Amino acid sequence: MNYNKKTIYDVDVKGKKVLLRCDFNVPQNKETGEITSDKRIVAALPTIKYLLDNGAAVIACSHLGKPKGEWKTKLTLAPVAKHLSELLGQEVIFAKDIIGEDAQAKAAALQGGQIMLLENLRFDIREEKNGADFAKALADMAEIFVSDAFGTVHRAHASTAGVAAYLPAYSGLLVNKELSIMGKALDDPKRPFVAVLGGAKVSDKINVINNLLEKADTIIIGGGMSYTFLKAQGHEIGKSLLEADRLDYASEMIEKAKAKGVKFLLPVDHLCAAEFSAEAEAVAAEGDIPADMMGMDIGPKTIEAYSAAVKGAGTIVWNGPMGVFEFDKFAVGTKAMAKALAESGAVTIVGGGDSAAAVEKLGFADKITHISTGGGASLEFLEGKELPGVACLLDK
Ligand code: AMP
Repeated sequence: MNYNKKTIYDVDVKGKKVLLRCDFNVPQNKETGEITSDKRIVAALPTIKYLLDNGAAVIACSHLGKPKGEWKTKLTLAPVAKHLSELLGQEVIFAKDIIGEDAQAKAAALQGGQIMLLENLRFDIREEKNGADFAKALADMAEIFVSDAFGTVHRAHASTAGVAAYLPAYSGLLVNKELSIMGKALDDPKRPFVAVLGGAKVSDKINVINNLLEKADTIIIGGGMSYTFLKAQGHEIGKSLLEADRLDYASEMIEKAKAKGVKFLLPVDHLCAAEFSAEAEAVAAEGDIPADMMGMDIGPKTIEAYSAAVKGAGTIVWNGPMGVFEFDKFAVGTKAMAKALAESGAVTIVGGGDSAAAVEKLGFADKITHISTGGGASLEFLEGKELPGVACLLDK
């Protein structure tokens, strides 16, 4: 997959109408609709400001929530338009529809330096179905397409990929940052390249492990997925998470890593609990896990070994927590890994979703080189999959 894509710096946007796909999928208070974190809107500002400062007429668009083709008043983007306008210090013209009369009239009248926002793309079922007529109608309002919503580039939707059939397509600054940092880590990493993989299930990470076995020097496994690997090696794992149908796969991966000379590290000790609860007593276990217990976190010896393994790394990619980090007692391993990454001196990349939330919650976010803004997208990136919203952009 080619990550070297043309950006907004590679095109003259002056006087041009630019369709800009943003990620304004902000969290909201369910009752009042109030935006509870404007992080995603703030993150979009550099691209928007660059386009406006350089004379583009910006037609911004985004999805919000999961209306699934229904017009749901609660999921209107109107509050986003208002907030964006406050952040930019200029009017954000809001269209009452997506490709309807209001949007078309407002887009036609839009001047360089002005910005408008279309209504929630997912109010129309054709957005997620990548309907050609819908994509064309979106594209017809503009002359250039800019993709800046990394969280949706793994989806072939009308506004993420479909429109590129009708418009020259460039990456915005957010998408470009994701592509250049993660692309380099996968294609030309500073070595040793260490991947830290955790989270609940082996089955979610199979393609990531397969791809990283070809690229990484060390793979560190933690979290719920480690117990299937340990069971495959003949350990007792008690009541821990087990994917019995993945045992053969787990053995194969361990063998494959050996054959390729990739270090494949599994936990050697654990923090266990008798039940899955925040109040459960944390019980230490080394090697096997007692029959009436489940593994909830990596233990102190594992933390020491894993911290040593990331020390001196050139590049570290992390996806998935080392334990049930939502419960304080079992957040020790995840916290220790976040600290080890922060202190490693390596290029550190944290995938979106739970691991990003963990790093932020534990206060290490500013010591990490890059925290991806896309959970699903960053995982598919690590799988080496072709991302439709990236493949459709013009190559450099
Ligand atoms: P994922 O979405 O695959 O990254 O998995 C994240 C989830 O895995 C989090 O909600 C964690 O609580 C959960 N998890 C991590 N370690 C364990 C474990 N040992 N047992 C059960 N769940 C776990």
